[in-house]
Amino acid sequence: MAPVIYPTTNLAATEQLVIDHGKGIYVYDTDGKEYIEGLAGLWCTSLGYSNAELVDAIAEQLHKMPFQHTFGGKTHEPVMKLAEKLKTMVPVEDAYFFFGNSGSDANDTHYKMLRYYFNAIGKPEKRKIITRERGYHGVTVAAGSLTSLPANLAHFDAPVEALHILRSDAPHYYTGRKGNETEAQFVDRIIDNLEKQILAEGADTIAAMIVEPITGASGVIVPPEGYYEKLQALLRKHDILVWADEVICGFGRTGADFGCTTMGIKPDLMTFAKQLSSAYFPISASVIPGWMYEKMVAPSAAVGVFGHGYTYSGHPAACAAALKTLEIYERDKIFEHAAEVGAYMQEQLRAIFTDHPLVGEVRGKGLIAALELVSNKTTGATIEKGAGGATVQRHAQDNGLLIRAVAGNAAALCPPLIITREEIDEMLRRLKIAVDGAYAELKE
Ligand code: PLP
Repeated sequence: MAPVIYPTTNLAATEQLVIDHGKGIYVYDTDGKEYIEGLAGLWCTSLGYSNAELVDAIAEQLHKMPFQHTFGGKTHEPVMKLAEKLKTMVPVEDAYFFFGNSGSDANDTHYKMLRYYFNAIGKPEKRKIITRERGYHGVTVAAGSLTSLPANLAHFDAPVEALHILRSDAPHYYTGRKGNETEAQFVDRIIDNLEKQILAEGADTIAAMIVEPITGASGVIVPPEGYYEKLQALLRKHDILVWADEVICGFGRTGADFGCTTMGIKPDLMTFAKQLSSAYFPISASVIPGWMYEKMVAPSAAVGVFGHGYTYSGHPAACAAALKTLEIYERDKIFEHAAEVGAYMQEQLRAIFTDHPLVGEVRGKGLIAALELVSNKTTGATIEKGAGGATVQRHAQDNGLLIRAVAGNAAALCPPLIITREEIDEMLRRLKIAVDGAYAELKE
């Protein structure tokens, strides 16, 4: 079948795998071939495929009331219930929620919330946002500018200069260390760089710093021990807000409710999407603390109304999907399960791949992990043209496993949270065949 849609990101793609249906952690193509969904779709199908409870909850809501907006004095019960439920879950002080449709638009919303808030309190100069190298925050104009991957910036006049975005070091010891630097020395150096940058820019011009607790799409980067403690102390000292982008980490992925819990972050603001509804319906949330909300509901006349919102903000069917997802997470103890089988997956990955000649580093937490693929295990030299990830991904697909090549030379794993130990064994068996196959091919 000739593709007549724009294939996302690769406009020239000629071969596409056409996925037809799914069950549990498995998906099947149009020829009936089975694949383990080792990336939970795009880091999102936490409850796997064909979950009838979720489908029924969405259908029931669509039958009852398929649409109601949340503008100008109107609202509906599912969105109110969802906000109430989330308020009991998030680590943000007295949280308030703005709902959207994607991780990207949630981050754009926060960009605007921050501008609006600092204007409302008479500090319009506090407008810069710090992001990190290798951060991924989406593709809309502000989120795309906060993202640091070359392909997301090139050709788009991004980062948009008027958005005042500052870039800081990626907390990735494996690729970022200098010489014989220890992890602790690496952390001190990048924190010191950041402080110099803050002082040079002027702390009173910086609103917030956005961080993925564990960086996902650009290589599953787990910052070293002590990094977040020092980072938060620095940001607090300079009165810069901590904005956690939990779009991948949120809701059990790292073996806890949020990546912030796993990594010891106390966020002021949060954004999340994906696993909020197990991807059965698009929904995202931008979360702000009550002390910010209070200043925003009573803005000065000069600031005026908060002119921002999407037609589908708080879409009733999306809220029904999210409410049912959260109910299942709690009832079936999905986060506890993810912590238990996640620890097993991490242990097995290290046992199988640490000594593999193609693998420089095995990293991850909970049910998210990556293999750094190298051409020389001793020096950690990368494989030319970032061919490592793509080669492993192709061999994996041939062997019935869908994974994702990220940041060129890393292969990422992020299976549905419902995966069992036995299914992890089978996933890693297929992954081993793929890594061996890629090694044999790349050696030639
Ligand atoms: N933030 C993070 C950390 C992400 O990983 C992603 C997507 O993968 C986004 C934001 C953007 O989300 P979306 O693709 O739903 O716009």
